[in-house]
Amino acid sequence: SYDVVIVGAGHGGAQAAISLRQNKFEGTIAMIGEEPELPYERPPLSKDYLAGEKSFERILIRPPAFWDERHIAMLLDRRVTAVDPAAHSLTTEDGATIGYGTLIWATGGAPRRLSCTGHDFAGVHTVRTRADADRMMAELDGVTRAVVIGGGYIGLEAAAVLAKFGKQVVLLEALDRVLARVAGEALSRFYEAQHRAHGVEVRLGAKVDSIEGADGKVTGVRLHDGEVLACQMVIVGIGIIPAVEPLIAAGAEGGNGVAVDGQCRTSLPDIFAIGDCALHGNGFADGATIRVESVQNANDQATVVAKTITGGDVTYDAVPWFWSNQYDLRLQTVGLSIGYDAVVERGDPATRSFSILYLKHGRVIALDCVNATKDYVQGRALVSGGARIDPARLADASVSLKELAA
Ligand code: FAD
Repeated sequence: SYDVVIVGAGHGGAQAAISLRQNKFEGTIAMIGEEPELPYERPPLSKDYLAGEKSFERILIRPPAFWDERHIAMLLDRRVTAVDPAAHSLTTEDGATIGYGTLIWATGGAPRRLSCTGHDFAGVHTVRTRADADRMMAELDGVTRAVVIGGGYIGLEAAAVLAKFGKQVVLLEALDRVLARVAGEALSRFYEAQHRAHGVEVRLGAKVDSIEGADGKVTGVRLHDGEVLACQMVIVGIGIIPAVEPLIAAGAEGGNGVAVDGQCRTSLPDIFAIGDCALHGNGFADGATIRVESVQNANDQATVVAKTITGGDVTYDAVPWFWSNQYDLRLQTVGLSIGYDAVVERGDPATRSFSILYLKHGRVIALDCVNATKDYVQGRALVSGGARIDPARLADASVSLKELAA
């Protein structure tokens, strides 16, 4: 039995343990993780790690010795299958029972898989774990043509890496633009054009019928209209399903995620939830209850929980931020564009350095900055303060956002 048990040794779980020790928490801590690795950064899996530009050691969240030094027990390669809130204990796949004083649920999610025929052929990949990325990398030599299904950040990043390796890439997006769920149309069209310029064949409104294969291995993707795109690799980037079944089965409120309050408490006693799986009322989401899939959200919620456990009085209200690297384009976003009613372009996309501001009822709610770190840094204050600024002035790139915020 441990004073604090953290389930999930990913971004949120690691930060929770780190913050507890930073806050001088002296109780026992155990982290239970399904993956065999010590906590590592996930974003590089579709960026520089996949590209072979960064080793696994360089994406570890802390050096291996850190966890021992902080007396954080690492119970890895173990999956939690059930939670008993009344007994304050949980069960792992191997049948062991582990008691907890406080439980922090930080399990992220499992990649959504295709449900069509052929979805399980070898060569069909999702990108969530180091093992996923390693499997793809091991196959790359034998790949000349790849199909990426899903035009979200992960699909686009993976497509960029494959294109860089000289592979022929077809990117299929079911909607009429890429990044449709997270960005405005201008950004979508910009990224679509950039991928085309790098040789990626972007197909919008594309509906997958099935995956074709031979001898258990993928040979192509069949579209609804019957066309077959021959390929040796398929990458599926169509979102995640939050890993919350054991908590929901134990009676926690939620569904698509586990519901939490401003301190990340679930409806079950002494159980918190953080990160990708936590359904929370986000102050930057137009009143909506949402899950946010970002490192920022996982880390900041972990910090809130650690403070709460060590007697602090805090509420989660951090400004959301996110990034994506594709080719030589560094996208940095701040805020959430949910519910925007106006868009301002700042700078010319043709220069490959520009920003897009999202407004709601005249207030700035979010920014997408492409190779425009200055706007990103200076624009944070506009988002956190919900600034009202004349759109014509926001569009004038000769005036800094800092001046406008003042
Ligand atoms: P995770 O980091 O996923 O950790 C959860 C851990 O819990 C996993 O190791 C999982 O195996 C384990 N687990 C699940 N169920 C159980 C169980 N029952 N028992 C034990 N262990 C369990 N975010 C950004 O901000 N910027 C980016 O550029 C970016 N790029 C990304 C690229 C990729 C390829 C991916 C996959 C994600 C990216 N993200 C990015 C999102 C970011 O990685 C996540 O938001 C973040 O990892 C969430 O942290 P978490 O702790 O909630 O979950």
